Amino acid sequence: MEANNFIEEIINGELAEGKVNEVHTRFPPEPNGYLHIGHAKSLCLNFGTAKKYGGLCNLFFDDTNPSKEKTEYVEAIKADIEWLGFKWHEVHYASDYFDEIFLRAVKLIKDGKAFVCDLKADEISAMRGTLTEPGKESPFRNRSVEENLELFYKMKDGAFADGEKVLRAKIDMSSPNINMRDPVIYRVLRAHHHRTGDKWCIYPMYDFAHPICDSMQGVTHSLCTLEFEDHRPLYNWVVENTAVSHKPRQIEFARLNVTNTVMSKRYLKKLVEDGAVRGWDDPRMPTLTGLRARGVPADALKNFCEAIGVAKANSEIEITYFEHFIRDYLNAHAQRAMAVFEPLKVTITNFPDCDEEEDFEINPNDETAGTRKINMSKHIYIEAEDFALVPPPKYFRLKKDGYVRLKNAYIIKCDDVILDDDGNVKELLCSFVPESRSGSDTSGIKTKGVIHWVSANTAVDCEIRKYDYLLKDAEYAGQDFSERMNYDSVHVYNGKAEPYLARVDEGTSFQLMRKGYYKKVTENGKLVLSEIVSLKDGYKPNK
Ligand code: ATP
Ligand code: MG
Repeated sequence: MEANNFIEEIINGELAEGKVNEVHTRFPPEPNGYLHIGHAKSLCLNFGTAKKYGGLCNLFFDDTNPSKEKTEYVEAIKADIEWLGFKWHEVHYASDYFDEIFLRAVKLIKDGKAFVCDLKADEISAMRGTLTEPGKESPFRNRSVEENLELFYKMKDGAFADGEKVLRAKIDMSSPNINMRDPVIYRVLRAHHHRTGDKWCIYPMYDFAHPICDSMQGVTHSLCTLEFEDHRPLYNWVVENTAVSHKPRQIEFARLNVTNTVMSKRYLKKLVEDGAVRGWDDPRMPTLTGLRARGVPADALKNFCEAIGVAKANSEIEITYFEHFIRDYLNAHAQRAMAVFEPLKVTITNFPDCDEEEDFEINPNDETAGTRKINMSKHIYIEAEDFALVPPPKYFRLKKDGYVRLKNAYIIKCDDVILDDDGNVKELLCSFVPESRSGSDTSGIKTKGVIHWVSANTAVDCEIRKYDYLLKDAEYAGQDFSERMNYDSVHVYNGKAEPYLARVDEGTSFQLMRKGYYKKVTENGKLVLSEIVSLKDGYKPNK
């Protein structure tokens, strides 16, 4: 199997040496929020690696932090993974293993490798030492096995207040790796757990629970992000010292960071709680549920994850690179349609009183897509900005006495401009060139501009929403996200759309000609066109 990244190189090596004979991964979210684009990278990696080697990938909920976790998040995470089209082998929860994890801790105590410590959290961290100085041993480090066992069972039975005692692994206070300096592996915490309720008042720490859970699930490769690299010796220590029957291996990869957005559940949660967005599924959010609401195709996100690849060095990816994949996908798949954002009324004075139908190309990039009929009438709307009273040089759109082509219809000429009392353009009086019909143009008139339009006789009112980034760009990097917040990230237009847009299925995505990719939604009976991505490609391949 050809390796596409360093993880696959490692696996190929292990398979060749007979160190492993299968590949079993897991995607391990903590159910304390919704998944975001960064998690998509981890999902693609975990599910993709398992698939490539004919192996299995579990969904594993790392629910060892009861105060922040909720069933709502569990359900949302499952829905997001299903949306991406990944199928997990089994679902497990760290909480399913709490009894087993407890017994492993008891075993450590019996082996003289863990002790109950009475130091408070701040005392423990004060004695932990620094990168250059060793830590100090706890005065409770040499308690007898019997005393430790008794105290640990008492911790479990609720004899101590939160924070009064912890269980620590007895490793090495002078280790150059601070994670190995007698890390806390159990804490007293009275918090209602979303699955185990009030059964437990002690909870294992992530570093202790995770390797045990990986092992119990038969995970061979426990893939996690780079910040856990320093935790790997502890991961291995737990695997070696808790008598697990199966030995998984931790491999770290670089986190995905994307410009102009927030990529941490903690901050995303704050945005929701502060009301800065409409919810986790606000279309501006980088959450998977937000992207789905936005209309981003799952395949576009997967193509992006594949293109950025998997590496060991952290980097920040331009959001325009992600947008490039959305556009690329929709350009090939989305139907075309027309809507006018800021309607300007146009009367085509020589057009017959009865309406006519034009052939409209559904998707020029898809030969099988064909055409559909659109209504053309004496009264139409064009985009206000497609007419200039005082045109700048090289203005190819409509101006007085100038010609322009209406997309998939006729060439029109502007004969007169009606102004309102304030001197603003109110209406245009135009004439059309009957021989210029699209597909059978014999007029001989050359026009440089082609503009979109809708027939006023059949147009429906719509609300058009365009979005900006949630965060201001890179020059603000390093500052707290609240200072970088872009408070002007939704722009609303009251436009006019083809009636077709009101009829099609909810959620359909379109390219609104010359405007961008939009998704159809209905809110309170009103047609809403919600931006997925603009037409302009900000991504420069050689930048
Ligand atoms: P956050 O900081 O957003 O809360 P997390 O790492 O705490 O993220 P988890 O629920 O623990 O979130 O993540 C589940 C898996 O997804 C982990 O393996 C984690 O390393 C991975 N992951 C999270 N964020 C990213 C990211 N930005 N890029 C790649 N993988 C990520
Ligand atoms: Mg985490």
